[in-house]
Amino acid sequence: MVTIAPDTTGSAASGWLGSFLETWEPGTGDPIEDREPATGRHLLTVAGSTPDDVARAAAAARAAQPAWAATSYQDRARILRRAAEIYEANRDEFGTWTQRETGASHSKMHHESNFAYLEILNAATLPSQPYGSLMPSAVKGRLSMVRRVPVGVVGAITPWNSPSVLGMRVVAPALALGNAVVLKPDPQTPVVGGAMFAAVFKEAGLPEGLLQIVVGGADVGEAIVTDPNIPVVSFTGSTAVGRRVGQLGGGLLKKVSLELGGNNAFIVLDDADLEAAASAGAFASFQFQGQVCFAAGRHLVHRAVADAYIEALTAKARRLRTGDPYREDVQLGPIVNEKQLARVDDIVQRTLSGGARLAEGGTSEGLFYRPTVLTGVTTESPAWTDEIFGPVAPVVTFETDDEAIELANSSAYGLVASIYTRSIGRGLAIADRMRTGMVHVNDGTLNDEAIIPFGGMGDSGNGSRYGGEASLDTFTEWQWVTLRDEPPAFPF
Ligand code: NAD
Repeated sequence: MVTIAPDTTGSAASGWLGSFLETWEPGTGDPIEDREPATGRHLLTVAGSTPDDVARAAAAARAAQPAWAATSYQDRARILRRAAEIYEANRDEFGTWTQRETGASHSKMHHESNFAYLEILNAATLPSQPYGSLMPSAVKGRLSMVRRVPVGVVGAITPWNSPSVLGMRVVAPALALGNAVVLKPDPQTPVVGGAMFAAVFKEAGLPEGLLQIVVGGADVGEAIVTDPNIPVVSFTGSTAVGRRVGQLGGGLLKKVSLELGGNNAFIVLDDADLEAAASAGAFASFQFQGQVCFAAGRHLVHRAVADAYIEALTAKARRLRTGDPYREDVQLGPIVNEKQLARVDDIVQRTLSGGARLAEGGTSEGLFYRPTVLTGVTTESPAWTDEIFGPVAPVVTFETDDEAIELANSSAYGLVASIYTRSIGRGLAIADRMRTGMVHVNDGTLNDEAIIPFGGMGDSGNGSRYGGEASLDTFTEWQWVTLRDEPPAFPF
């Protein structure tokens, strides 16, 4: 039973999802408090899950999955389309929870809603895709085919920063392809990361047992990774935790999909449209307080245009308003919690101690950190080497395209890169040499489409992808089937 705080009555708790929350019981463990980062207000208390709850959830999911996999593709697609309609009909209420649980601005919240909706719609097309091929066979008279079969139960572990999208890009395609799912959102976002999914798919008519939601931290996450009924684990989160998940799951010979952190290069060449570049660079570093995996963590700027670019970037940073994004007209909300705020500030202060200059920002009030521009940054400083996950834009200059490429590729991460130039040929030549899963010429790093195989290289992941056809690889396994009329004779 969820306890909803009195101050969330009104739009947040009294709507369609609010009614669902009154009886939602995700676990039998200790209570978890859900707080609004912008105000510190208590939103609700939810019963957290235990490792035993995970075992029960996984067993129930496994029991329900074969019948679901045997339903017709039309039935699965119909339920997905219905889920999309329900999501769309309730997006205002989900948006309110997104803003209050995560501290998202209106634009981030709309992105979250649009994208989660598109993930469901795209998943609804998967059941009707061809799911295999007829193969030539060396054996005369033998029918040989390869087909994709569901993996069974998918364990999904998601972070707090984009809970609806990052959950939906796993839950919707995995279900569409005939699997069951055990989903664990971050305990800071139990509603938009967890309850919302349970409510939408229940109303859409998804058979009982197929979608299990557990809420908790590392112990609950590890129970998912090690559960014998869960053969495939999909993890989105930090590289440090991803490594742990990879080790645990790999040791049990599980298929583990890891979508991890980034420290993404935003490259500005000397022939770039500087106003367009500064606008994209500011958005890429400061949108959602920089708390996204594909934020621009490193600005690489040609020396000839560095002063002008820094001036434009700084002016933009100065104009941005910070505050409570749910109640005020601001572009930047809070950093998610005190620990993360302290970490961001520590990175900035240590970088300044190492000789960098503060062009803008570097201050905070409560959890609200001002958009920050650092210049004269060395490539050894923490603001350059670490994923900051805060609204900080460190700038380093270069002289040649080769130098820019070397600097960009010097990070262990490899999620995304952006290149600003008026020469498409030059942009493509640099893109050809980027060690990143995604590259954009004359566009920002914050880029995704539900049909694109999203993912990174190096420390940003283990090569698994979500989106469109890539979801088929992630959530199905190949099976070779042969048939022949007459059994052959064997020498034994
Ligand atoms: P996190 O790694 O701390 O937590 C992610 C999830 O893992 C949460 O649900 C958490 O409860 C769970 N968890 C924690 N310890 C665990 C353990 N030992 N075993 C299993 N699960 C465990 O990450 P975060 O701080 O919530 O999210 C921010 C990070 O996520 C950043 O590094 C960001 O770049 C990354 N991220 C990556 C992508 C992507 O698609 N590549 C998208 C969004 C965020």
